Formats: sequence, structure tokens, C-alpha cells
Amino acid sequence: MTPTPRLEIRGWRKLVSRGLDLLYPPACVLCRENLSDGRALCDACDADLPRLAEPFCQSCGEPFPGEIDGPFACPNCSKLKFAFEFARPAMVRDERTLEIIHRLKYGRELHLAKDLGRLAAEAFADPRLAPALAGNWLLVPVPLHRKRFQHRHFNQAEEISRVLSAHTGLPVVRVLSRIRATEHQTALTRSQRLENLRGAFVITAAGRRQMEQSPAGVVLVDDVLTTGSTVDECAKILRRAGFQKVVAVTVMRG
Ligand SMILES: [Zn+2]
Ligand SMILES: [Zn+2]
Repeated sequence: MTPTPRLEIRGWRKLVSRGLDLLYPPACVLCRENLSDGRALCDACDADLPRLAEPFCQSCGEPFPGEIDGPFACPNCSKLKFAFEFARPAMVRDERTLEIIHRLKYGRELHLAKDLGRLAAEAFADPRLAPALAGNWLLVPVPLHRKRFQHRHFNQAEEISRVLSAHTGLPVVRVLSRIRATEHQTALTRSQRLENLRGAFVITAAGRRQMEQSPAGVVLVDDVLTTGSTVDECAKILRRAGFQKVVAVTVMRG
């Protein structure tokens, strides 16, 4: 196969996208203000989205309303033992951030991954992620099942990972695969979620090769961290395969 057809398609895409820009000038996804630099979010809306700031739970990133001295675990996490070291959402729960995530996932507005990935990259300012940056850990997107992938045509976690990779220099590797389609988790309790996820993930061949080369660490990437059951199940599989440290970075704490 020659690379020419791909280049042609790219050229066409650019033309089509330029044509669309003329018809519908790019506007901020939240306030509709006109934008000119390929971003989906204007400076004012961007600055307005609430970032996660201390104090927050050192396990799940749940913010603590008020003042507290030193690291703390939220009442939920103090009772649990996760397979991951910690999960670090970049943003706190907010309707506007969630709207952007939903428009990426369900509205298939793929261009929004760029801004969401950029926001997620802010999590790497957390000093606990310095070893991941220094050790060139793998960015591992939480995988979608093939059926859901076929329906959506992309995995939002992977799109966000790719942008994160551009910001951090860490490589994206499909270390995990989802072999079982799972029910939507929203209405399930924590124990039902764990049951629902059992056996859903396996290590890919690429994941095994990576593990043999460098078993140091993995940064799991997802759009939203809700109860943490999904990243916990993924972390269990990664730890069992031999990865020494597993942490998680998400755009938002759900
Ligand atoms: Zn705006
Ligand atoms: Zn917590």
C-alpha cells in the first residue's frame, strides 16, 4: 500500500474543514463566542471551569469543602483498598465540563478531545505524578468494548490520551482490552459495579511486550472518575500482569 491515498484524504479533510469553518465559524463550545485558533473553548470559559485544588482525597480526588491540614482520605476511600495508588482528576464536578465530555462522547464532537486532553494534562502539575513523567510511564486508555467502539467510532479515553501524550511526552499504549460488554454503570451500586466489571478486561499482546520491556508504571486515562470501580478493575489486571505502579488521571471527578 502506498501512503498517497491517505495524504489525499488528509488534504480533502483539510479542505472540507476549511469550508465548514467558512460556513460555520468556529465558536466556543460553551458561550458561542467566535474563535480563530482551532480551540473549542474561549479563554474566559476555560478560566471559569473549576480545577481540582487542595484539599482533596489523596485516593480519589474528591474535594474537601473547607480547610484541613495534611493529606486526607475521604470517608468513602478510607474504607477501601484500591489496586491503583491514586486517581488524580484535573477538574472538579461541574455541569459545563460534563457537557463538553458528553458532547465528545455522545455527540461525537471529536474536536473537543483537544481541549479536554489539555485540561487533563493540568493534573500532571501534581507532584505525585513527577515519577510518571521522569520514568516515561505508559498512558493506558481505559478501553471500550468492540461493540461500543463500533457504535461510537472512537474511544474518548484514547483520544484524550493522545492529547495528553502530546503535552507530557509519555507514550500511549493499548495495554488493555475490554473483552466483555458491560452494562451502563450509572444506576449500579459499588458492589454491583464490581460484579459487572469482573473479567471485563485483559492485557493485550502489546501490553505484555511493554511489560517485559518496562514494568515500572502505568497512568490509566479516562474521561470521568465516578466511584473508581472501572479504574480499580483495570489496575488489578495491570498489577497482576506485573506493572509495579498504577495511577489514574481523568479529566473530571464525577
Ligand atoms: Zn466561551
Ligand atoms: Zn476518596
